[in-house]
Amino acid sequence: MSAFAPFLGQTIAVLGLGRAGLPAARRLREWGATVTVWDDSEKARDAAAAEGLALGQPDRFDALLISPGIPHRGPRAPALARRATEIGAPILPDVEFLHRAVRASGSRARFVGITGTNGKSTTTALLDHILVTAGRSVTTGGNLGPAALAMPLLGDDGLYVLEMSSYSAERLDTARFDLAALLNLSPDHLDRHGDMAGYAAAKARIMRDAATAVFGMDDAETRAVAAAHPGRVAPISGHTPQPGGVWADGPILRDDTGPIADLRDAPTLPGPHNAQNAAAAAALALALDVPRDIIAAALATYPGLPHRQERVGEVDGILFLNDSKATNADSTAYALACYDRVIWIAGGVPKAGGIEPLTHLFPRVAHALLIGEAAADFALTLAANGVPHDVVETLDAAVPAALAAARAADSRAVLLSPACASWDQFTGFEARGDAFRRLVAALPGAALQPRGGAAAGLSPSTPTAEAA
Ligand code: ADP
Repeated sequence: MSAFAPFLGQTIAVLGLGRAGLPAARRLREWGATVTVWDDSEKARDAAAAEGLALGQPDRFDALLISPGIPHRGPRAPALARRATEIGAPILPDVEFLHRAVRASGSRARFVGITGTNGKSTTTALLDHILVTAGRSVTTGGNLGPAALAMPLLGDDGLYVLEMSSYSAERLDTARFDLAALLNLSPDHLDRHGDMAGYAAAKARIMRDAATAVFGMDDAETRAVAAAHPGRVAPISGHTPQPGGVWADGPILRDDTGPIADLRDAPTLPGPHNAQNAAAAAALALALDVPRDIIAAALATYPGLPHRQERVGEVDGILFLNDSKATNADSTAYALACYDRVIWIAGGVPKAGGIEPLTHLFPRVAHALLIGEAAADFALTLAANGVPHDVVETLDAAVPAALAAARAADSRAVLLSPACASWDQFTGFEARGDAFRRLVAALPGAALQPRGGAAAGLSPSTPTAEAA
């Protein structure tokens, strides 16, 4: 135990020993708590026991910390969560404990929370990059990068930038965000939150006490949450003027006082959805007193995150893009909208509806290469719409075939944006994207680009995100 022991005398049960739970258990023990840990996986339990953590599912405890992916209510809630409800013990996310510890240390470090259905990781990583460029004391993580309880304690000038899932957001208790952003809301994760109102309320929770509350005004649900917000709203948009806020006016990111940056100088932030992300990050950075020219410089040098329209490399001027994170048609739509005459690699384990929702974007596709379980179905949809395509079965075959197709069709871009989960051929979207990168590297004459994200100490979201 360290001299700093804000949780001395508290008994805390930790359920789920993944990338958030295990560091949490270590940290809480270091900070004085009596910690008991559990995970249904024997391997995870053994790893914790090897570190001297006490295993078990206690009857009495002061608080329960459970992994973000585990439901804490309803029929699927595990026994320990039901027990917590019986004995009146709060069920808390790791961010709650971080916030309590930072305040107990006497630090006035500020907390910035970023949530929304889409764009959380991009906005979080972009804000991190802006703040690092500005030379600020910042640590970034949460849902991507280090988990909350793997973060260091920062002094008064410190900034915690946290990507918040709705699951973590709804379990917060006394933790307050000084600045927060709600990017957008679309029906997602409704199984857990019951309905859209519950989901919106969970996301809105992080906005409640924020002195700077940034709301994306590009969808009706988020506008409704903003309208009900008790404090001042900082509005942002990827396309529509927002007096008092930040918006993209065509390619120019601006606020009331004038231009902030030209998004044409930000090659890793293509498309209107990224204009929304850039507007949110800029609004937060301005509220943190980052000078406008530094925001502009940082947007231009933002390295991007792996697997999200990641610029992997070029062969003879043909750009290879890894959008492996796009596991449904919705996400793929954002990527297809950014390119003309693209060679599209798609397929894997399809979601309901397949690629039917993308037919309006098919004129942008010069040729498609189909892999995985979905290939035959997708081929039918493409054939019905007159899109040239081949069923090539595997990514190994798709990449060289894509290069040949790009040359034949005089296309400048090859896009892996599968609109499918990867489980039929890979362990997750990250493994699929990594395989794509290796295959591109193996093409004769390939010039690779360095990886984004890692430079900022960030890594992409956990593979469980794919299930969501
Ligand atoms: P999240 O962390 O919320 O899952 P990411 O930043 O990882 O979001 O982006 C994942 C995918 O979501 C992107 O590849 C893109 O297809 C889509 N996306 C990103 N930003 C937005 C946005 N602002 N609005 C809608 N879709 C977006």
